[in-house]
Amino acid sequence: MIVVMKQTADADDTARVAQHIEERGFSLHISKGEARTIIGIIGANEHELDSDSFEVLPGVEKTMRIMQPFKAASRDFTQKKTVINVNGSQIGGDRVAVFAGPCSVETREQILETAYAVADTGAQFLRGGAFKPRSSPYSFQGLGHEGLEHLAEAREKTGLSIITEVMSVEDIELVEQYTDIFQVGARNTQNYPLLKALGRASKPVFLKRGLAGTLEELLMSAEYILSEGNMNVMLCERGIRTFETYTRNTFDVNAIPVLQNLTHLPVIADPAHGTGKWDLVNPISKSAVAAGADGVMIEVHPNPAQAKSDGAQSLTLKNFAALMKDLKRVAAAVDRSI
Ligand code: PEP
Ligand code: MN
Repeated sequence: MIVVMKQTADADDTARVAQHIEERGFSLHISKGEARTIIGIIGANEHELDSDSFEVLPGVEKTMRIMQPFKAASRDFTQKKTVINVNGSQIGGDRVAVFAGPCSVETREQILETAYAVADTGAQFLRGGAFKPRSSPYSFQGLGHEGLEHLAEAREKTGLSIITEVMSVEDIELVEQYTDIFQVGARNTQNYPLLKALGRASKPVFLKRGLAGTLEELLMSAEYILSEGNMNVMLCERGIRTFETYTRNTFDVNAIPVLQNLTHLPVIADPAHGTGKWDLVNPISKSAVAAGADGVMIEVHPNPAQAKSDGAQSLTLKNFAALMKDLKRVAAAVDRSI
């Protein structure tokens, strides 16, 4: 960390900062410029340094961190990209992983019909919410345990692995008995007790970006899971809230290469929540694959007009098949396969 002194700081101010550093057992390097003095702290574990304790000292203008605030999620932690293996399918490998299925598990027939169709046309993972984080308490809240049973039956019949959301610490044990991957939704990205508990769970975690979350906040949330020992975490760009109103959210394609540079964790794109409109899902999925996403999550419903949640952003089975064809061509153009 570097401490930047104010132009008006005097020798006493600098001496006080130096003493503060030495009292903590670190050494320092003072650099006196024309206009101001800069003090480098040497030998400190930056993650444990409290910048506030420096910034309150007289004469200090600001502190600057040299390292990223995330450790285990960082590229410095390992140069090798994390590849997550789930029942023989890889996430983060050469192939772009495909997660597809309805927003919510609604009926046994609905999830089975969708599962057969998406398995046939290129998905490896079946998504479907059994516990739904709805903005209104009066909206469909999901089938709960029964929905997990339907997902498990769909896995047995199609060979797809399943991913479903877990909303609270109390539900982890139940959901873990069924799912192959835990999904953490945008509304829970900063639910730290949930993240810590998932860090001690045995299944991979699919962590969505918060509703208006920065990429650093997303990486710090991943850090909560990783620091408890669960290293199988993937990150998901699902759009963020901006001032734009023509789309539900603003899909941030920047996030894909930015995260790929900052972290070794796989990065998945969710263009359905990122746009809120089914006819935007195809072009934005293509842009995500072109930008280097390790996977796409697509909402698919046999009859979107009848969907109990997110019908407007769901693809029909036919449109999903068409999307998979298009994505094959885009993936090939960037030396990937799907
Ligand atoms: C979902 O995947 O259906 C969902 C609720 O997503 P998000 O948490 O990104 O809103
Ligand atoms: Mn949804």
